[in-house]
Amino acid sequence: MAISITSAIYKHEGKIKEIQSNNKDLQENTLTYKGHLFCTTPNCNARLVYVHRTAKASYFRTWQKDDHLHNCIFMFERVENRLGKNTENTLNVEISRSRKKEALNDAYRKSQMTEQDLEEERKRNRDRKKSKKNPKSKGKENSTAVNMVMKDGIQEEEAKTRGHRGPHLLKRNANALTEKDIGKPRLVIGFIKDIEYTEATATITIEKNNSTVYVKFEEVFFANSPEHLGLFHFIEKYMKKNENVILTAIGDVRKPKDNYEVVVYDGEEFRIENMTLITLAARYARKDF
Ligand SMILES: [Zn+2]
Repeated sequence: MAISITSAIYKHEGKIKEIQSNNKDLQENTLTYKGHLFCTTPNCNARLVYVHRTAKASYFRTWQKDDHLHNCIFMFERVENRLGKNTENTLNVEISRSRKKEALNDAYRKSQMTEQDLEEERKRNRDRKKSKKNPKSKGKENSTAVNMVMKDGIQEEEAKTRGHRGPHLLKRNANALTEKDIGKPRLVIGFIKDIEYTEATATITIEKNNSTVYVKFEEVFFANSPEHLGLFHFIEKYMKKNENVILTAIGDVRKPKDNYEVVVYDGEEFRIENMTLITLAARYARKDF
């Protein structure tokens, strides 16, 4: 186990200061600090993420892709193959928010359709593609490199008019994940069977045709989306009242043991019955349910 990190160097726009993990400003303005926190060991420069916890002391976690200097006291060996070094991981970060939102909506819509409706839709799409015969929409693997810079909807629109296509986000039902998906971003779809949570982590078990997938929300998730802390019990409440609740989630696929896991990094990247967790919680607050 790595030593827990309780201080960090904040570096941004010429400002440098040391900051403790119990700092009030850090707790209240997490976004200001995001991406600008570094290891305190001289020359180490490993980036850190602030992990807010309510029941226990908050701390800093090492950025997923950064390693400490080998003589840094915070150095630790990464567990092999937890998330392989795959360039698509980087792509995942860069797929625009609007595109992810579109993909989540589409996945939910399809989960509500019958096999027959789906087949009809697939056929219509095939026919449309045939009639288009657009050579630019196929191949050209290299052009994704250009698209990697896209970060928001505006840039994506721009790219569209230039004729580029953004990186594709593949959708998988919980029973359709394969070894080839490991280490890559995927949109996974399934029925919620179980949920487990602590203040800093949550696991939603989903199922489709008897295949079980664990959708994981870890410290990085809560560091990215601290407003989701303490809301996961609403999912439990909702699934106990409703049958066949659909979860759609975007994350990186891994398979540490017998089951696939999908690791979600952002609160905008999963839906419960096509609602964000924030929406679900708000509806409970309004007593909609
Ligand atoms: Zn370090």
